[in-house]
Amino acid sequence: MKPTEMLKTLVGFPTVSKDTNLPLIDFVDDWLRENGVEAVRILNDVGTKANLYATIGPMVEGGVVLSGHSDVVPIDGQPWDTDPFELTQNEDKLYGRGTCDMKGFSAIALSLVPEMKFLRKPIHIALSYDEEIGCLGAPRLIKQMKEQIPQPAAVIVGEPSMMDTVTAHKGLSAFRTVVTGYEAHSSQTHRGVSAVMNAARLINWLSERDSHFKDSTPINNGFSPHHTTVHAGVVHGGTALNIISRKCEFLWDVRTIPDGPAANVYSEFQEYCNDILLPTMRSVHKGADIQTTALADVPPMREILDNPALKLAQDLTGNTVRSRVAYVAEAGQFQEAGFPTVICGPGSIDQAHQPNEFISINQMEQGEQFLRKLIRRLS
Ligand SMILES: [Zn+2]
Repeated sequence: MKPTEMLKTLVGFPTVSKDTNLPLIDFVDDWLRENGVEAVRILNDVGTKANLYATIGPMVEGGVVLSGHSDVVPIDGQPWDTDPFELTQNEDKLYGRGTCDMKGFSAIALSLVPEMKFLRKPIHIALSYDEEIGCLGAPRLIKQMKEQIPQPAAVIVGEPSMMDTVTAHKGLSAFRTVVTGYEAHSSQTHRGVSAVMNAARLINWLSERDSHFKDSTPINNGFSPHHTTVHAGVVHGGTALNIISRKCEFLWDVRTIPDGPAANVYSEFQEYCNDILLPTMRSVHKGADIQTTALADVPPMREILDNPALKLAQDLTGNTVRSRVAYVAEAGQFQEAGFPTVICGPGSIDQAHQPNEFISINQMEQGEQFLRKLIRRLS
């Protein structure tokens, strides 16, 4: 199967993170089995999604992991000109959800499995779920691979990088905060505790932390923006203008640069709640509360220049451009588990998560050349 045919098949599975990815995993499992390769599945707790990994070639050390995520971001509210789940070619571009982020890379790797017959060192294919909602699936995949496969020489995470090598990415901590106040008529502000107004104070506090990092972090460190960022993205609260609000909930995240000034935003946030806001809120109503839960926690990827994965990717591409990126990927998780890791994949992050997402035929070809060279090198 050609890489573009494989891509057409993968894009046809609408693996938005909120939905199951099992039909795609079934397909990959069958495809690998037809090629004499047994894959291992690792299900989520409720059995609706799965990671999959497979070793092609001998079970020896020094192999290469090709890592991709099977899930894609939603299309809701986006003005697409074509069916996002049907690969559509227009001139030199292939349109569809997940084409660049990142079914293109996975499609190339899978389509080349029949050519991996004479490997001396193994290629391990790893496909995760729930990457797009905080890299939630990869930890159990990586843990099991760490236990089951002989130590590989390199992990290549095929996120779209235009085949440049990415050596560092930011980390991510995401949270949900629920503020519980006390209802009263809005004319009686002395009798109620406004969840909305207190949430606003917290969000303002977050915004000030963001400014603090912006001003206190040295610039020109390769990241754009150059600092750890703090951001609230969703707020729900209140019932009516004339009711002091009882509930307000908001989602926020901290995206940390590696080795930056310690960004203990969560513990400082809790201190602000416990020392400043809650005493005032509870002086009006004892039941007032602020609860924060963690939704995701992804380590940053640190730049390590003495890195066999970086050297391998640069040898294969002949391209020594190195970059650092602000988005989060599974590379930091692989690195934290002790695998030499690099990000290198076809397509541009500029098209990721967009309506009319595409990958160019040229990028698909460059990705194919890259993996063909890798197969030759390991055979
Ligand atoms: Zn991605």
